[in-house]
This record gives sequence, structure tokens and C-alpha cells, in this order.
Amino acid sequence: EMEVMIMDNCIFCKIASHQIPGKILYEDDVCMAFLDLSQTTNGHTLVIPKKHYQHVLDVDQETLGHMMSVVQRVACQIEEKMNTKGFNIVSNMNEVAGQSVHHFHIHIIPRYQTDDPFHIQYTDRSGDVDLETIYQQIID
Ligand code: 5GP
Ligand code: ZN
Repeated sequence: EMEVMIMDNCIFCKIASHQIPGKILYEDDVCMAFLDLSQTTNGHTLVIPKKHYQHVLDVDQETLGHMMSVVQRVACQIEEKMNTKGFNIVSNMNEVAGQSVHHFHIHIIPRYQTDDPFHIQYTDRSGDVDLETIYQQIID
């Protein structure tokens, strides 16, 4: 198995290197999928690279692409076994967005009903903003 750099004090580096146990659903040389302790909904799973990257903008393209294929594969398995009705696939980047473990990870959050303990809300601010101004700001 490929060797990977381990960050001291990083809980996910320790799970990736089997220094602490995890309920592992999938593992290969570059990444791992394991159950999130919190289980916001049943089957709540994290996909992490074995190598330490801070967040989604830090990880290399090849690893990211591979991880997304693992997200798809593990979500399919959860869907079959847990009779899931849908998923939210989420990655929080930096504290402002709710990231608490600073080792890149993708949440697979199975959904069973609209009032699950997990919810995501997109506030409609379309009446308060100028879309063209925002668009120009980004593309300039
Ligand atoms: P974040 O808030 O950074 O997006 O997500 C971190 C997630 O890691 C949380 O959902 C939390 O429940 C989970 N977590 C934190 N420590 C551990 C751990 O030691 N083992 C597992 N399996 N999950 C953890
Ligand atoms: Zn780490």
C-alpha cells in the first residue's frame, strides 16, 4: 500500500492510517469512506483522501475526481441497503462554512424524508440583489 504523509493531531489522518478505528465502507490507496460518528441521518458517511489536504480547493484534480467516483459508488451501496430516497453531497470549506475538521472530506448524507434531522436551505434573495452586478464581479 502507498505511503502517505500523516499530520499530527489530525483525526482523519489517524483514521486514514488505521491509528484509530473507523467504520470503513470503502478503502483504496488514495481514499477512504467511513461512517460519520454524528449520523445526522442513518448512513451519514465521509469520503476522505488519505493524504492531508485542508479543503476542496487544496486537493489535486485527480484525487478529487477519484473521490467523486467513490462518493457515487458508496452512495449507490447505501441507497440499496438503507432504502434511501435521496442524498445531499456536501463539503464544508473553512470555519465560516462550518468546517470543523481541516482534512478535506465529502459528506454523503442519505435522505429519507423532507423533515430529516438534516436540512439545507437556499434563501431566495433574488429580490434584494442585482444578478448582473454579481455576474460582472465574478467574470471581470
Ligand atoms: P465538518 O464539520 O468539518 O464538515 O465535518 C466533520 C465531521 O466529522 C462531523 O460531521 C463529525 O461528526 C465527524 N467526525 C469528527 N470526528 C470524528 C471521528 O473521530 N470519527 C468519525 N467517524 N467522524 C468524526
Ligand atoms: Zn489530516
